Amino acid sequence: MSLSALAASCPTWAEFRFIDAREAAVDLVAVRTSKTFTRLFELRLLHLGDSVTVSEREIGGTLPACCPERHINPDGSFCTGLRAGEGITAETAPAWWDKLHAFALCQETAAETGFWPSEAQLSHGYAGEVELAAENAADQLGLRAIYREAVAFDTGLIASGLNKIDAKTGKLRNGRSACVCGRTDRRGRILLRRDCHRVGLGCPIALEHQRRVMVARYWRGLRGQVICCGTMRECPLRETSDGAGSATAAQGKTT
Ligand SMILES: [Zn+2]
Ligand SMILES: [Zn+2]
Ligand SMILES: [Zn+2]
Repeated sequence: MSLSALAASCPTWAEFRFIDAREAAVDLVAVRTSKTFTRLFELRLLHLGDSVTVSEREIGGTLPACCPERHINPDGSFCTGLRAGEGITAETAPAWWDKLHAFALCQETAAETGFWPSEAQLSHGYAGEVELAAENAADQLGLRAIYREAVAFDTGLIASGLNKIDAKTGKLRNGRSACVCGRTDRRGRILLRRDCHRVGLGCPIALEHQRRVMVARYWRGLRGQVICCGTMRECPLRETSDGAGSATAAQGKTT
């Protein structure tokens, strides 16, 4: 059903062919903002369980076989967005195509510049859900831009508030003082730190801390499992050769 919904809403920049009830081939060439074409992407769609996965028909053919920074999973499937492939219906199929389109454009930018476009960035894995929760919580406080700043540049009120988090509990220290995010109750009183994270949408500072813990865990899980594809300028999987290696060496000298 999901594949039929995708077939029915296939846009002009893609060609959809059923292979069998659970598999389809898609050929895609999209127009970039510069009005030039992307490369041809020859894709395979697989409907497994309630979810449609998409990968290159020849994994590693045009794109890296795996690159977390480019949102290509270890099995070669694409991460086009949080739960993008789940439960696709006639209503949600056009959004799936939109995400695939954005993914193709981002791949071309990544291939040329070595960076994933930052506006399309969402934290890896389930950290993406926490990121959305934090963004919503920040938005309610009028801190949406400040939150994006914390994620992208590690500066601003939310980023500096992270210093006040107790790493053991994941909560802000000094629970009886006013929360740094400035959230107030209905009467306009600033919430206490010990309350802020468990009321309403939660405290964006506590959520941002949680997101960072999850992102770090995500990369730890991949280290040793996945080899860096070498196409990106900044990749946490590459730091064993220079970054972390030299840091350990420096530490070794002081002890
Ligand atoms: Zn890579
Ligand atoms: Zn707060
Ligand atoms: Zn890499």
